[in-house]
Amino acid sequence: MVTLRGISVCPGFVAAPVVRVSQPVGVDPNEPPSTDPQTDGQRIRETLEAVAASVRAVGDGPHTSMLEATAALATDRALIKAIDKELASGAGVTAAVAGAVEVYAEKLRKLGGYFAERVVDLYDIRDRAIARLQGLPEPGAPHLDRPSIIVAYDLAPSQTAALDPALVAGIVTEAGGPTSHTAILAAQLGIPAVVQVRGILLTDAHRISLHATTGEVHVNPTPAEAAGLEAAAREAAAREEAATEAAAVAAGPGSISGQIRNGQTSDGHPVKLMANIGSAAEMEGLDAEGVGLFRTEFLFLDRDDAPGLQEQTDQYVAVLKAAAGRRVVVRTLDAGADKPLRFAPGQAPTPAPGQAPPQAEANPALGVRGIRMSQRYPELMDTQLEALANAAEQVPGSELWVMAPMVVSADEARWFAQRARAHGLPNVGVMIETPAAAIMAEEILEEVDFASIGTNDLAQYVMAADRMHGELGALQDPWQPAVLRMVRGVVRVGVVKKKPIGVCGEAAGDPALAKVLVGMGVSSLSMANVKIPAVHAALRQCSLEECQQAAAE
Ligand code: PEP
Ligand code: MG
Repeated sequence: MVTLRGISVCPGFVAAPVVRVSQPVGVDPNEPPSTDPQTDGQRIRETLEAVAASVRAVGDGPHTSMLEATAALATDRALIKAIDKELASGAGVTAAVAGAVEVYAEKLRKLGGYFAERVVDLYDIRDRAIARLQGLPEPGAPHLDRPSIIVAYDLAPSQTAALDPALVAGIVTEAGGPTSHTAILAAQLGIPAVVQVRGILLTDAHRISLHATTGEVHVNPTPAEAAGLEAAAREAAAREEAATEAAAVAAGPGSISGQIRNGQTSDGHPVKLMANIGSAAEMEGLDAEGVGLFRTEFLFLDRDDAPGLQEQTDQYVAVLKAAAGRRVVVRTLDAGADKPLRFAPGQAPTPAPGQAPPQAEANPALGVRGIRMSQRYPELMDTQLEALANAAEQVPGSELWVMAPMVVSADEARWFAQRARAHGLPNVGVMIETPAAAIMAEEILEEVDFASIGTNDLAQYVMAADRMHGELGALQDPWQPAVLRMVRGVVRVGVVKKKPIGVCGEAAGDPALAKVLVGMGVSSLSMANVKIPAVHAALRQCSLEECQQAAAE
């Protein structure tokens, strides 16, 4: 048995067989030029047919029409013709596929709009075909038929969102930052996950005992070793649960009402403990006092068109009903960067006829994302705000708050607040997750009713450290004094202006840091539901003054 270590992003223990998600392999650099284009052409055609079949086999469900369109591209006659041409000019088989796809992609880009957006699917086909031609497994999310631990270099948020939580027992990635959206999604779905496990791809892991609470990944344990690990993990989890429950009992009868954990310090200072969610399905069994962050972009990812008014309204109604009067803070679409939309590309506007196609953004995290995307496509935001207003009307007694992501100025806050209020939404806020917003908090809070601090992006931008870059984990740490000083500045403004300031980045789920944030004056903490019991227990064990001392230190 080999034991590797990484960074835990969602606790838990699980033992299961491994399924690998392979990365694209690229053209074979050693392949000979084609000497028999006819035979090679036939081999490629058969490969593309197999690719089409494997795409279709991903299954039924909301993505069926999209998969069908991708499968049809694989056997498109224009593509086959382009491949034959490449072979005739002497290219090897994988080079012929790559070359022909590039020619075809260029044509689609020139057509713009819907056609340009199909280029992603075309590249997917290329990567699958090239892998098959080299006798390797196709890249991408695998089809699971039993509970398995996914092992990957990294996963895109859209890949993670597409995984079936009932069959994904755990996730282990070689790369990936602890605040990457993949890590966040795994935690929200309650899937034990460890990122930054250096060397995992070099092992021949076929079975893993994953101790995601400690970040330990035990590769290929013997049955006796696996049983020992499981027993030890179960004992440790029982001890932790008992300590958490003991803290709740010591805190008195009001600390857990029904299933809901009421956040409070030992001397009764209230702190709302809220949950971060990405879909209505995650409302089931929520321990939280409400939803502090509904990342609505997950309704928009991995689809060919935006969800319409009715579809969105239904989702928001479902969340508000499940909240049963608890506060729900909905964040409007935060797409772009690592969460691109197929139908509203963040990279650049669709070019005018005859113009050159846009180049991809060199630095998408500094590009058109968050509210910038909504300003470019205001109709997306208006439909969303209308759906939210409809939902609030349909669920009497609901408490709906809305906020915009990635705001950098009072002008942007005003733009959003006016639009939201015009739709009749009374509680309007913004996320403070850029240094500019933190510095301008006073002016921004003039425009809105509340703010929520996104420490994931704030740390990324303050520390100039990409949150997707796992190696820079220490710089993205919200304990960094520069990040904490910014947070403190924002909270001070909120206290003076009597406007509630919450934290909904991953920092909120760290029990020790939660005390510091409460000591600074933060009024709510929002985190993955699984993290609430530990934060609840930590706050119940210290007074507000002790929290303030921790913050001062
Ligand atoms: C954040 O940036 O801290 C945040 C909560 O938003 P997201 O993680 O979705 O970018
Ligand atoms: Mg953010």
